[in-house]
Amino acid sequence: MIPNEVQMKNAGQWFRLLTRLIHARLTGRPLLLSHLVTCRCPCRCETCLWRGLVDEELTAAQIEEVYLDAARAGILLNAIWGGEPLMREDLPEILRSSRKAGLITVLITSGLRFNRQPEEVTSLLDTVIFSLDHPSSRHDEMRGMPGLFRNVTEAIDRLKRRPASPRFFVNSVISRLNRDSVLDLAEWARTSSVPIYFNPIEIGIPGEPTNSPSKQSLAVDESTLAGLARSLISLKARGYPICNSYGYLRTFMNGKRPYRCHARKACIELRPNGDVIDCLDRFHPIANVTNVSLRDLLARPDVRRGRLRNVDCCVCNNADVIDTSYIWSLRPESVFSLLRSSLSPP
Ligand code: SF4
Ligand code: SF4
Repeated sequence: MIPNEVQMKNAGQWFRLLTRLIHARLTGRPLLLSHLVTCRCPCRCETCLWRGLVDEELTAAQIEEVYLDAARAGILLNAIWGGEPLMREDLPEILRSSRKAGLITVLITSGLRFNRQPEEVTSLLDTVIFSLDHPSSRHDEMRGMPGLFRNVTEAIDRLKRRPASPRFFVNSVISRLNRDSVLDLAEWARTSSVPIYFNPIEIGIPGEPTNSPSKQSLAVDESTLAGLARSLISLKARGYPICNSYGYLRTFMNGKRPYRCHARKACIELRPNGDVIDCLDRFHPIANVTNVSLRDLLARPDVRRGRLRNVDCCVCNNADVIDTSYIWSLRPESVFSLLRSSLSPP
């Protein structure tokens, strides 16, 4: 198979990520920015951890400075999420800043408002990740937003028709609300030719209990999760477009297997108000980027030591933490899983 132009671009980005990862491991600098750009969202998901968490937001001009600074500090990939990022009217400006800084730009969205965006927004993105919890209008009920499933499918159809489209994925949170539909989601992904990630709902993110309501009651029990992990492994082996690495899925196959988390080394988290967060203490920011430049902050010896120390914590369930940790460890299957999803036809 001769790769087309988009696949070549994606493979190029994969190669840049891999080389920057090796550089990050050698220098101790992060390579990913996780930017929670707003906590506003009109949806009402029971599974939500972030809506309404922070009211204040950096301006687009402040964000431009942060992105330039992030790039100077060696960061390569910028994941913009929320809340619903498209609630920000200035999102095109923010995306333009991300591109101007040379960052690989990823948008994580519910899909609401995506189809109303000017064409420019799509052209500024490298990857779009749509959240989808059910392959039908039951998704609308779960998110408290009529028409959302149709929004997502129409947005994906639009991207499929578009030449030189950004890559797109679907991300699905597994909870008690959709545990019986996980395999239907995989089937939907196969028939719709949409790459999909699965993540068990987060239930133990560290923080102050008053501010971080546990989603324990929505968690799927270990044996159901193990059964789902086995089924997803088998479907992936049969060619279903499931993007989680086998290593990731195996993590949940016999009760959750502990893993060595390296996400704090690879990634830096930024809140809408400019707070820089350590995932081990999410409610006591390390600093705010309106008071100190991100580059200076990352160069501070105490911050660097804190980020790079090995921790026993493996509370997160998300692929972006676990697969990132496996990729950081250069586990071949996880690295090549990322390559496969970069090269597979959109
Ligand atoms: S769409 Fe996302 S941000 Fe909005 S309520 Fe649902 S989980 Fe929260
Ligand atoms: S598992 Fe990793 S990313 Fe998650 S809270 Fe623990 S150290 Fe942070």
